[in-house]
Amino acid sequence: MADFHCIPECSDCCTYREYYPGKRFGKVGVLILPEERDRIAKLAYDQGVRVRMLPRVGVSEAGGAGPSRIIAYQMMGRDANGDTCPFLDTSGVSKSPHGGHPCRIYEQRPLACSAYPLSGRNPSVLDPKCKYCKECGPSADGNLESETQALLKIERSVASDLPTVWRFATGIGEESDREHFLEPGWVRDC
Ligand code: SF4
Ligand code: SF4
Repeated sequence: MADFHCIPECSDCCTYREYYPGKRFGKVGVLILPEERDRIAKLAYDQGVRVRMLPRVGVSEAGGAGPSRIIAYQMMGRDANGDTCPFLDTSGVSKSPHGGHPCRIYEQRPLACSAYPLSGRNPSVLDPKCKYCKECGPSADGNLESETQALLKIERSVASDLPTVWRFATGIGEESDREHFLEPGWVRDC
């Protein structure tokens, strides 16, 4: 096992967004917890950054026509295809500590950004799309303390006893994929 570290000059996780849970749902944005939403919106307002926030995951009793509670929102990328976080500074004026593009709100970034690339704990599971995984292998067990704490907070926030999960189809992605997209809106997760 090895210590996790960012790959020099990489900004992939702040740039590229994925189709999740599949292409028909469109690309997802950066996960924003309900308790983070107003704070992130204010940061954007204060910095003159345009942010588009959509719902991401909701829950309801069985048989509901839609979610009765939204447990996560998402901050969409600024590009037409859904990529590039609006807070990523791509001007080239400054660099992140590992030489990538810097985050304009790094010290106050969403928990999802603090947790990345950790997607599971005990044992640690890393997102295979992270450049570290591509270049150094799919696992690391060191230097992930802050990521683990952030993931724990996310898990506590999204926990719910309600049985039905809903996902919001964004209808955002590559122009060439548009024919596959669902209409934007809530879709029950089966
Ligand atoms: S977490 Fe992974 S994808 Fe993100 S900057 Fe670091 S190496 Fe790149
Ligand atoms: S908020 Fe900052 S750390 Fe998070 S995706 Fe955007 S630029 Fe990256």
